[in-house]
Amino acid sequence: MIKSEGGDPPCLMCAIRDRRVGETIVLHEDDEQIVLLPRYVRRWGHVLAMPKAHVTAYADIDEEVWMRTARLAHHAACVVEAEMRPIRCYQASTGSAAGELTQTSAHLHIHVIPLYDADDRPADVFSWADGIWVADSAEWEDLRRRYHARWTLIAGSRIGR
Ligand SMILES: [Zn+2]
Repeated sequence: MIKSEGGDPPCLMCAIRDRRVGETIVLHEDDEQIVLLPRYVRRWGHVLAMPKAHVTAYADIDEEVWMRTARLAHHAACVVEAEMRPIRCYQASTGSAAGELTQTSAHLHIHVIPLYDADDRPADVFSWADGIWVADSAEWEDLRRRYHARWTLIAGSRIGR
């Protein structure tokens, strides 16, 4: 589906950043970073944070830039915990050794994934073999609105710390 929408982009994350693979559902965006709701997910409520610059190795990214990505991923995890009440929340920067696939990319990024099943293991969550979550546009918009409100609320509670 991504290929049909965007051709065959050389970097999936850059293509998402540039809105070349359909709608990008954004929770936070600034000049350097973007946090969004990936549309092909294994668990409802999945969030993804990434630096906008195309970097594929940790040695090649400025430490402060990556720390800001990590800070946003932490913020996203707090939003997911508060809004979805999962059993726990995974964070992972998996990269891809298999080239650009649906929701996996060499472009550095951090997944934030809510877990609702005590038996869930990383292999269940990071493999798309068993299918992906399907939601309609109203459900995506509802989730985006809830997350965005919570994002702002948590950000406001941190002012002055
Ligand atoms: Zn890229």
